[in-house]
Amino acid sequence: METPKQPVDIAREAIRLLTRRQLPPTPDNFRKAYADVSGQDAPEEASWPAVLRPLLKQWEAHQTGLAQSRKREMLERVLINFGKDGRLLQEKLAALAKTWAEGAVGEPEESPASAPAALEATDAARDNGGTLRALADNLRRLAADCDARWPDLAGRAFDLARTLDGGSGLDAARYEAWSALWKDLLARVNEEHELSAGLKRLMGLLFLNIGELVGDEAWLSGQFAAMEQLMAGDLQAEALLEAERGLRELAHKQGVLKGSLDEARDRLKTLITTFIDRVGDMSRDADGYQARIGGYSERIGQARDIAELGDLMGDLSADVGGLRDALLRNHGELVAARAEAEQAEERVRELERELAQVSVLVREDQLTGALNRRGMDEAFARELARADRLGEALSVGLLDIDHFKKLNDGHGHQAGDEALRHLARVVRGLLRPTDSLARYGGEEFLILLPNSDVAEAERILQRIQRELTRQFFMHDNERVLITFSAGVAQRQAGEDGAALLARADAAMYQAKSLGRNRVERG
Ligand code: GH3
Ligand code: MG
Ligand code: MG
Repeated sequence: METPKQPVDIAREAIRLLTRRQLPPTPDNFRKAYADVSGQDAPEEASWPAVLRPLLKQWEAHQTGLAQSRKREMLERVLINFGKDGRLLQEKLAALAKTWAEGAVGEPEESPASAPAALEATDAARDNGGTLRALADNLRRLAADCDARWPDLAGRAFDLARTLDGGSGLDAARYEAWSALWKDLLARVNEEHELSAGLKRLMGLLFLNIGELVGDEAWLSGQFAAMEQLMAGDLQAEALLEAERGLRELAHKQGVLKGSLDEARDRLKTLITTFIDRVGDMSRDADGYQARIGGYSERIGQARDIAELGDLMGDLSADVGGLRDALLRNHGELVAARAEAEQAEERVRELERELAQVSVLVREDQLTGALNRRGMDEAFARELARADRLGEALSVGLLDIDHFKKLNDGHGHQAGDEALRHLARVVRGLLRPTDSLARYGGEEFLILLPNSDVAEAERILQRIQRELTRQFFMHDNERVLITFSAGVAQRQAGEDGAALLARADAAMYQAKSLGRNRVERG
């Protein structure tokens, strides 16, 4: 049977097919039967002329308000979007012809020749404009994000964003600026990465010499103080490397010095023990001699003849000779031992001097573990700058132990040293991590209290006084009460460190003159 061409014939034949197949005439079954009758593969070909003819007609016709360029754009869009599906393409082209036939309203009239170029230019400008705006916005966001950390980069990002706002696009120079900015930003981020890795190495290093330094707390806390200082400051990879190098040398030198010092001390101890043994030997010899001399005089008294006396004199002179030899021998050994002891003592002093010099580098007082003057000066400068920058309060407390001379005189200098250690320990236990304790002089300490007003400073110093009545200093199983007099002062606007200290000092002296064991405000 010949395939029907007209839709009405196809439809009629499709109904016949459904009856033959004994299928109910549902829309679905009908669609399938219709497709079978018309032949699925060729419908587009059959209807192309029907689609193209009206389209061509409308293409050539002139519609008011519909520019030729606009028509070309519409046609191209349909071909691009639906060109792969023949049936859909036919539908859309038919719809397009219908739209043109109805005419478009509101489209600007353009000259056909210049239209495509103008269209491209407008679109490109629109696209570029959006991208540039997004780029400028992102640059501003970047600037805001890194303003606090890297103000220089933030400034560059802002400037670049501003030039992009001008609308003249991303020319070679701007592109160069943009890529340089990124490069620098990446470098900084990498540097931060380096920084944290460096910090880890530093931590490792700080623990390197712990084995050698245990038992000498001061050294250890010095290392930590140095590190805290480093952390508190503005971290720079370069500074970190410098500190790492310094600490590595320092730790090594401390280890070596400490080893030699212990060795020299041991040597001195051995020499002194030998000396005492020798003296003991000598007096033992002398005792024996005395006893024997006593024996001799008795025997001399009882001697009955010259021959016996002669024998006695022989024995006596042998004894005296022996004693003289022993004395001479011991004398020689003692002189040599003393020379060695003096040498060892000198070596100990030398090493201690060297150790003290090295310890200055860690900015910390060896006896108490508080900051030394150098550490204090640095901490003070840092806190003053911080207070200025953040507009925060800064107070100081200066304390001087009461009647410390008496403690030294009554219990000995060693006990005085222990008392200083004890005081520093108690103070440290009560301070906040941001506060610092420095040994200002012999038995005077300075406490830096950032972000504290004078009332707070007074409270902290009084708390330390109370704590000292709880944590007694013990010496020879005896409780020794340590009291101090203190002056506190809050920094006034623009006041320098020296003036602030002078006020705290004056207040401390006032506390002394008002009876001691009290805190006065300066
Ligand atoms: P006050 O302050 O109450 O007027 O009396 P004070 O006895 O404390 O007087 P002063 O400040 O004049 O004496 C301080 C003493 O501290 C003198 C000094 O021998 C002693 N001293 C200083 N440094 C040390 C140290 O490192 N160890 C020991 N044991 N004593 C020290
Ligand atoms: Mg004093
Ligand atoms: Mg004193």
